[in-house]
Amino acid sequence: MTDLPRVILHVGTEKTGSTAIQKAASSAHAGLLKAGWLLPASFGPTPHVRVTTAAVDFSERSALVRLLGLQNKKSQDALRNTLSADIADEIQKKRPDTVLITDEHINVHLSSIQQLLRMRSFIEEFAQVDEVVLFFRRQDNFLAALISESIKLGRFGIFDPENPKPVGNTRPYRFSYQKIISNFEAAFRGARLVLKCYQENPEYSTVREFAGLYPELKNRLREPTQRQNSSLSAAVAMPLLIIGNQAFKNGNQELLLRWPEVIAASQQLFPGSPWRLPKTKVTSFLEDFKSENEWIASRHEQFSAWLNPTYFDSREDRLPNRAECESVIDSLSAKIDARLANNLASVLNSIPNEKFSENRASTAGNALNYSSEKRLPDSLQLTEPGSVKEEGASIRAKCPVCAQAYIISTALPAREGPLCPRCQVSGRGSAIVYHFLRLATGSTTRSLTELRRDASVKALGLSDSPRYSEWLERKFKYRNTYLHKRPRLDVTRPPRNWLNWADVVISADVFEHVVGNSIEAFNGVFSMLRPGGSLILTVPFVNVGEAIEHYPGLIDYRARVKNGVETVELIFAGGIKRIADNPVFHGGPGSTLELRIFNRHRLLCELEQAGFIDIQVHDDNLPESGIVWGPASRPITARKPQ
Ligand SMILES: [Zn+2]
Repeated sequence: MTDLPRVILHVGTEKTGSTAIQKAASSAHAGLLKAGWLLPASFGPTPHVRVTTAAVDFSERSALVRLLGLQNKKSQDALRNTLSADIADEIQKKRPDTVLITDEHINVHLSSIQQLLRMRSFIEEFAQVDEVVLFFRRQDNFLAALISESIKLGRFGIFDPENPKPVGNTRPYRFSYQKIISNFEAAFRGARLVLKCYQENPEYSTVREFAGLYPELKNRLREPTQRQNSSLSAAVAMPLLIIGNQAFKNGNQELLLRWPEVIAASQQLFPGSPWRLPKTKVTSFLEDFKSENEWIASRHEQFSAWLNPTYFDSREDRLPNRAECESVIDSLSAKIDARLANNLASVLNSIPNEKFSENRASTAGNALNYSSEKRLPDSLQLTEPGSVKEEGASIRAKCPVCAQAYIISTALPAREGPLCPRCQVSGRGSAIVYHFLRLATGSTTRSLTELRRDASVKALGLSDSPRYSEWLERKFKYRNTYLHKRPRLDVTRPPRNWLNWADVVISADVFEHVVGNSIEAFNGVFSMLRPGGSLILTVPFVNVGEAIEHYPGLIDYRARVKNGVETVELIFAGGIKRIADNPVFHGGPGSTLELRIFNRHRLLCELEQAGFIDIQVHDDNLPESGIVWGPASRPITARKPQ
């Protein structure tokens, strides 16, 4: 018992730089392990939301439960058991001294002592909770953060600017620091409780603050190069709140579903200093927080150092008046409409099928629910498709596979479906071959068919399309492999003879189908690359919004036809079986079941976690090489270090 590792549990409340800590830890994964610290892969990409899900009270209405697609208590138990086995296995293999669990969701979703106790007992099956590190905020700009959070999440109910409710009364558990602290104190009796206060100033670094607590982390955790500042600018927060409220009241689902895009577009259009609330509206709210902070300080001396007497810094406090709002809304709406119409056109055009089924839309990487029957809201109504076409440029393209010259319209983007009139390769296939040529030969001027054979280049494909795989085979030492037919390769269990072998591995729309923890797939391709070798990855993913795991805890599935109807039997850990509701297939029913939709953040984290460097998402179109499609699911390349 005594050699159980200790657990450091990091819990950040909203807007305390949790993401920065998680990114830093996840990219330092290998270094941490050398120092005896394990960031468990079993708990999923950071944030370690699965741990929370294993302990939360089961409710079908719980956002978290829905996020992980848990249908009932049984599937929650199955998840818990799988997790428990996975983490035990991981600890057995890596033998860490310290396990770092970091998840800001804990404070949001585990709001009772019982739930926290449940989490503790789960953790203590494999480790000892030694320390709980809680990050809080100084409260001067707090409600702004809260509202910006709710705008981002598309929840407008309680933040109606025209009928303001006393926000102090609607403050949810996650902002009640006093309660959070007492709960943690009660549930983690015996463990050290460390309180930290996030500071809103450019010199402050949460990552440095956290790393400063542990000598082993010094020089190991680095601040992510891009500081993610997702606060909304003053110019846009209030108009967005009004637009969002209208959408909410009118039940405008389309707009609400596209909300993350609206936010992203707004942040680009209106960068600027973050929004602060008017003093009049927040006084009582802040007074509450002030007394809470004082309460915390009275019990935890370390906290008092961070209490700032200038609580009510109102220099930037300003609520735009109605007329100002409306004029901002008008110009904002026009810009957003144009941007969205464009994005939407890209999405719809990238679907070759005449009918825009819900499935295609979701794999197109947008959490949209369009189908041909649904009409767009008027504000997002596209002009006639013809006029969108006219706006695009016609560009002369050369096919990277067969060298065919053809004319491509930048207004008709296509990821899937035949694009090159000669070899029929798709936009995605063109992108894969383009990056292959760039990485393997250092030049993209010649197309694949124009090259001489070079057997010194070793490459591996995971279910590559024959449109280009046959040419790769002729020109290089290339093997295409499959999960369900020969030559077989399960990327999560790469055979010994492929280890450290390939100069390039191509994984084209495979990882959304991998059964089990997707990090294993990333580890798998990493292990098959020689040092310095490159991965070319395509996978459906959203740029903003949550990643979705459709069937957590799934260990196998069987697709079959029953009475003429295609059904999928899902098999979970412990042998629990159920039939999938609305399964999504790629490449036709029965072939490959979509198990997840990644988001950009999760992909980058898992790549980093597997050890990749030089990770690039190729967001720019290259029409001259046939690469033109919407903002989502762009090609990614990454390198294994030398
Ligand atoms: Zn071609």
